[in-house]
Amino acid sequence: MQILTGFILALVIAYLAYRARTLNWSGALAATLVGTVVFGFGGWQWAVLLLTFFITSSGLSRAFRNRKQGLDEKFSKGHERDAGQVFGNGGLATLFVLIHALVPESTIGWLGFAASLAAVNADTWATELGVLNPTAPRMITDLKKRVEKGTSGAVSLFGTFASLLGSAVIALPAVLLHPAGMLDGNYFLLITTAGLAGSLFDSLLGATVQAMYYCPADQKETEKHPLHTCGIPTVHIRGWRWLDNDWVNFACGLSGVLLALSGGFLFGM
Ligand SMILES: [Zn+2]
Repeated sequence: MQILTGFILALVIAYLAYRARTLNWSGALAATLVGTVVFGFGGWQWAVLLLTFFITSSGLSRAFRNRKQGLDEKFSKGHERDAGQVFGNGGLATLFVLIHALVPESTIGWLGFAASLAAVNADTWATELGVLNPTAPRMITDLKKRVEKGTSGAVSLFGTFASLLGSAVIALPAVLLHPAGMLDGNYFLLITTAGLAGSLFDSLLGATVQAMYYCPADQKETEKHPLHTCGIPTVHIRGWRWLDNDWVNFACGLSGVLLALSGGFLFGM
């Protein structure tokens, strides 16, 4: 029954997101699957965390549009999220809901779920709000080097603060809504830190091994492949070809989870 309710709610939200052009059709299908599992096997508390991520990240993507014009082409995908992006951001969280369903007495499911969402939310907030930093960002691998806004692996003070805030926005309900009410303030700090660390790891991958391409027509570096926004095929210039933005997002969530679970074990979870 709860799975059916979850399916209907997820379908309605995915449909609205599709109509609002936040998700394309494959993204809407993927979001329906993720939402069904999260509400159906978790419950409303789990759905609140997922929706906090979904609503704030799609809202921020749309906000400050005029200040972000010209940056979109740097990112591999536009504002309409596809299935790859939905699973890159929410796949790990979905897995932890299933772990919870198998071992409901353990906190691992909830902590992993919250930490993965905190990390991808931190990363999205940093990307969307970081462009508002008044000066050019710096490379995470070489803080003396200033680069163009929107460059993969670029960090700024404003973006890092946004990342911390994006992580805390998930960590707070994660502690307040824990189904068994067993998480204290230490867990708020742990999840927030784990989310921030995941987002910094995302930047590190972007600066080093993420697949990067070059558009010969615009003479610009881009994540877009096989075609650039201008329609010209892009050329691989560095990074592992398989490591696209979706896998980097997945790695962002995974690093947050590993840190949060390690901390949880130290706290005697
Ligand atoms: Zn181009």
